[in-house]
Amino acid sequence: MAILEPVKVAGSTISKTTLHNQDFIQEKELKIGDTVVIQKAGDVIPEIVEVKKDKRTGEETEFSMPNTCPVCGAPAVREEGEAAIRCTGIECPAKLFRNLVHFASKEAMDIDGLGENIIQQLLDKELIKNIPDIYTLKFEDIASLKKNGKKFAQNLVDSINKSKENDLYKLITALGIRHVGSKASKLLARKYKNIDNLMNAEYDDLSMINDIGPIVANSIREFFLQDQTIDLIQKLKQAGVNTIAKEEENIDNRFEGKTFVLTGTLEDYTRGEASNIIEKFGGKTSSTVSKKTDYVLAGEEAGSKLTKAQNLGVTIINEEQFKQMISL
Ligand SMILES: [Zn+2]
Repeated sequence: MAILEPVKVAGSTISKTTLHNQDFIQEKELKIGDTVVIQKAGDVIPEIVEVKKDKRTGEETEFSMPNTCPVCGAPAVREEGEAAIRCTGIECPAKLFRNLVHFASKEAMDIDGLGENIIQQLLDKELIKNIPDIYTLKFEDIASLKKNGKKFAQNLVDSINKSKENDLYKLITALGIRHVGSKASKLLARKYKNIDNLMNAEYDDLSMINDIGPIVANSIREFFLQDQTIDLIQKLKQAGVNTIAKEEENIDNRFEGKTFVLTGTLEDYTRGEASNIIEKFGGKTSSTVSKKTDYVLAGEEAGSKLTKAQNLGVTIINEEQFKQMISL
């Protein structure tokens, strides 16, 4: 980030802008002490568009990215092909904080009530030191974080316990493997069914999955080879966190995008039953016939809806035809 002398732009006072990464700073030839032109569009974070070099006094200094982590002091490394510089510290508190926030987030383990603020307090009071510690948090300790914190503590304990039942893909997302978001996690959960299979998956096997590819496959391999990861998974299992993919229902969407209108009396189904079958296959039912109707299912003593369907040229099916359409 760039820290600016506060300036009013479009009604708000701006004192910081994003600098993205080192490449951006180099590209703009930005120095500490420079005068800059900034822009702010809507809710987007303000950005530097130009450096006013003619305003330079000679007092400006070059910025260089630190090569150690400002929080834990471990070497900070930029990997080839990446814009970001990362702390390599294994027990970096800043990384732990971010990992915890990610672990509890909605798309990951979805632990309602465990946001940044609470995580910071738990870390400060040393009530948690790592991810598995979430699962051994005590009610009294959580309650002590807030005034009249009993209700809050109960809700948080409930959502922590609930998260143990999460499907495998949410756990994979929560691990924060680089390049593995929720979409890739779903693919991995579907293929490997449980965490042990995924941990033991070979590079060749991983890279064969559509949408995974060599970089992601490498990242997954590296992650699961670390002692820390093995220990983490072991502790999560001990805590009772689910590590198995739930059975997927076989989804048959043969009626997707199709609208049915039911009319008259069917022999083997009530209207409700027939509607349920149509919806189960991804279709919709409507009570009025229009040009958008795909099928009119006409039983005995069908009335005006049948006539309307005939006039509009909508496909009319009888019960026998319907049975054929829903047979496997
Ligand atoms: Zn660090």
